[in-house]
Amino acid sequence: MKQILLLSGKGGTGKTTITGALAALIPNKVMADCDVDAADLHLILAPRLRAEHEFWCGVEAEIDGSRCSGCGTCAALCRFQALVPEDTARLLPFACEGCGVCAHFCPEGAITLRDKMSGVWFISDTDHGTMVHARLGIGQENSGKLVSLVKRQAAELAEEQGADWLLVDGPPGIGCPVIASMSGVNFVLLITEPTRSGLHDLRRVAELARHFKVPAGVCINKWDLHPATSDLITRECELIGLPLIGRIPFDPAVVESLVQGVPLPVCRPAAPATQAVSELCRLLLQRCGPP
Ligand code: SF4
Ligand code: SF4
Repeated sequence: MKQILLLSGKGGTGKTTITGALAALIPNKVMADCDVDAADLHLILAPRLRAEHEFWCGVEAEIDGSRCSGCGTCAALCRFQALVPEDTARLLPFACEGCGVCAHFCPEGAITLRDKMSGVWFISDTDHGTMVHARLGIGQENSGKLVSLVKRQAAELAEEQGADWLLVDGPPGIGCPVIASMSGVNFVLLITEPTRSGLHDLRRVAELARHFKVPAGVCINKWDLHPATSDLITRECELIGLPLIGRIPFDPAVVESLVQGVPLPVCRPAAPATQAVSELCRLLLQRCGPP
């Protein structure tokens, strides 16, 4: 089983739209939506929920009001301003980093640290195969750990099912969640757009792939919206030795597929963008080699 990861370095390049389209074209695969902060692959693949699991990660302070004397020590020591000194101390849960200082210094032993539920993750069936996805709780951190969990579960399911491919929709940016999503990946497809910010973020995420020695290729989405910048990106790819394996034109059929909530090749099989994604898929699998 081989793993393909789609990254963009920035949001809004069409990464998830292209992941959804590839999901309809790549045979015998499992999909993982690792964009856990703003998961939206489910909007295209219409998952039917099979299992739901809680994601517990980290701790937060819990105050036993019956023991608190209101001395204010905890609020004075908390570096994250997560405690309000009232008659009995009050916790601001979104501000608590779970460092444990308040619990350590509370003279009444009124504070304990409790595990916190940071999100949920799901296994679902779709018309195009099994999908593992997740939803990080509001204001919760640890998205890197949730990304690792989603990917690990998806990889295990892929092995169990004898899948040839694991198709992963990666998180935006270049931080911890992206690094977590790169683990064990065979090929990274970098989706960019013909804008200066697209080029800037492509450079950053390409550098990350190079750092972790993961083979990568580039696809320019909506390349014809600004051909001059697309040419600039093409030259940059040549310069840094990144193969350009896809150029997808702007096509209203993409919007139509998103409105209908189905992958582009299913919605509009003969559209120009579908042809371009099909060619991208062919070259992508060729680059990856046989599973
Ligand atoms: S340090 Fe303990 S006793 Fe003092 S206000 Fe905080 S919780 Fe209450
Ligand atoms: S655990 Fe740390 S961050 Fe949370 S309230 Fe206590 S001192 Fe503040």
